[in-house]
Formats: sequence, structure tokens, C-alpha cells
Amino acid sequence: ELYAGEMERRRLHNTIQELKGNIRVFCRVRPLVGGGLPKHVQLATSDNKAITLAKTEESHTGKTADTQKNYNFSFDRVFGPRASQQEVFEEISLLVQSALDGYNVCCFAYGQTGSGKTYTMEGDEVDETRGVIPRAVQQIFKAAGKLGEQGWEFTFTASFVEIYNETLRDLLYTGKSSKRPEHEIRKTTSNEVTITNLTYERVSNEDQVLGLIALANQNRSTAQTAQNDRSSRSHSVFQLDIEGVNAGRDVKCKSTLCLVDLAGSERMVKSQSQGDRFKEMTAINGSLSNLGIVIAALANKESYVPYRNSKLTYLLQGCLGGNSKTLMFVNIAPEPDSFGETLNSLRFASKVSAVLFPVFIGQSTLMMSLH
Ligand code: ADP
Ligand code: MG
Repeated sequence: ELYAGEMERRRLHNTIQELKGNIRVFCRVRPLVGGGLPKHVQLATSDNKAITLAKTEESHTGKTADTQKNYNFSFDRVFGPRASQQEVFEEISLLVQSALDGYNVCCFAYGQTGSGKTYTMEGDEVDETRGVIPRAVQQIFKAAGKLGEQGWEFTFTASFVEIYNETLRDLLYTGKSSKRPEHEIRKTTSNEVTITNLTYERVSNEDQVLGLIALANQNRSTAQTAQNDRSSRSHSVFQLDIEGVNAGRDVKCKSTLCLVDLAGSERMVKSQSQGDRFKEMTAINGSLSNLGIVIAALANKESYVPYRNSKLTYLLQGCLGGNSKTLMFVNIAPEPDSFGETLNSLRFASKVSAVLFPVFIGQSTLMMSLH
């Protein structure tokens, strides 16, 4: 009985998503270091969908009043500094679940370094502070177990890649050789994206995946020590490929759940970035802006989507577009000195979330946003 209700809830969720388009943007504001929020960040309490950044311009003469400029944004959901990992996950659990219904699901964390991307995606190891990845994995295996009672059999394959300077690195690599294998993104004859020489690990329970995540973190921190602050300048992509068969009902499904911690979106000062830093900056800016372009092209159902313009979107081509569901977290740091970066992030995210639908009225076409 409970299961029938759950199925209905999921069906409704999928229908609503189809109506509204498959792209969602959630904003999450990290607390100040001592907790709370400064005055310049205001969150709507009525519907949890709006955020305002207020900028006070001090009058220099002292004779005129200070002026305040408000920048207003609205998203599918805005989480304030007190939102727990549990609350955040509750909002996306149906999305995660739909990966078992055959939908590709892609979830990104976007924002400047220090804004809470890794906290949101991975979190800490303590139960309550675990982030999206471990919670999603837990949910998938739990739900797959329930579906098993209805005759479904699933196989799961996990992979974990880092993209640094447009180069792929296998985070599940365990070889000892200092010369690591090189990787290329390829398309199979059935149009699926694969990566050459990558570790694709067959997994069958939550603990195995958590073990792989720990291995990936170890791999990342080794590179991090060799190269200061590297992890904030690379994208990390966790993928769980899911294949389900229900022999009794003669049905199959296949999908991928993709969880991505993006490189820091901060703009570096050009004059300060030379050599390697300049190369990194160019790679990051290029791939993040291409991600925005790809998502916008998909939302607007454009015929050409420039997936191949960056490694990140090429790699994710299979889980973006088509019947996939995309969720972007835009993570925000509330400190006043992050104002400029925060404004940039919110602008980027609202471009991504502006899904336009053509509505025909007489001879003219009105573009309407459903948000
Ligand atoms: P990023 O990955 O974007 O560089 P982090 O996730 O590492 O940022 O977050 C920076 C710091 O802030 C970390 O110490 C993290 O634990 C803390 N933090 C981030 N978001 C939250 C939050 N919602 N609640 C409490 N602490 C947070
Ligand atoms: Mg991080």
C-alpha cells in the first residue's frame, strides 16, 4: 500500500517535471563563519524561492543620502544558512529516485571557492552532515531493494573522474605506476559516451560505493598536496550507471546518475594570473560558461547544442538533454567581500534557470517563463 502511494508520488513528480521542463536551480547560502547571515543578503521567508542582494552606495559628500540598490533573483528553491543537509536532500530525493525510473539525472554544484559546493555534494562524514552523494547512493540502493521485491534486478557501475585543465584523471585509479593512463572521451556505436582506460567499477551495495568515494578523495588529496589548491580548480564527476531488468514484465531501463562538484567559478584578476594559473583560469572559465550555454540551449530546445566545446559537457552529453533531469545548486558565500562573485553566480544561475516556452497568441509569439 505504502509502495503504491510512493509510485503515485513519483509519477506525479515526473509529470510535473515534464510540464515545467527538466531543469531546476536551487540556491544555497552558506552560513557566515560564526553562523547567520549579514544584512546585505535577504531571503524571502514566504515561499523560499527568492533572494535579494542589497548594495548600499555610501554618499561621498555626506550631504546626500546613501543609496541602496537591490538585486533580486528567484529560483526553484532558496536554502538559507540554517537549512540542514537532510532538508536539502529531501528536496531532491524524488529527482534522485527517478534515476531508477530510467531518467538520466545530473546534479551540479556551482559557485566560488569556499561557497559550500563540496559541503553540499559530499558533506562531512558524520551522519547528519553527509551531503548529496552519500545520501543519493543510500537512497538508490534502498529503493532498488524495494523494486527487487517487484521483480526488478539492477546492475550498478560507478566511476569517478576529475577534469583539470581540460584533462581527465581517473579518481578510482589504484595502479602504482607514476605514468598514469591517458583518457579520451569516445562515443560508442550506440551513441553512448565512454572514457578510454577509465575504471568502471561494478558495485552492488552502499558500502562499496562509499569505499570508492573514499578512494577518490584520497586520490584527489594526493594531487592536492603535490599542487596547492588543485581541487578547487578542477571539476569532479561521480557517475553511477544503472541498468534494470524486470524479466516477469519484460521491461528494461537504463540511466545514469551524475553528481558534479564544479571548479570554483571565481574570476581571477588577469594581471595576477600568469603561466599555469592563466591556463587554468582559461580552462575553468571556458568549461563553466560552456556548461551554461549547453543547459540554456537544451532548455530552449535549440537544434544545436555545443557539447563538444568542453570536456565536461562532452563527458556529460549522455546525461544532459533528451529525457534527462538537471539540477544546479548555486552555492553562495555571504561575506560582504564576496558580493561581486555572489552577484556573478546568481546571474549565471538565473540565466540557466530561465526556461522559455513559446506561447502562440494570434500572430505573435510570446516567450514565457514558467518560473
Ligand atoms: P567549496 O567546495 O565551494 O570550495 P566548501 O564546501 O569546502 O566550499 O565549504 C567551505 C567551508 O564552509 C567548509 O569548511 C564547509 O564545511 C563550510 N560550509 C559550507 N557550507 C556549509 C553549510 N551549509 N553549513 C555549515 N558549514 C558549511
Ligand atoms: Mg570544494
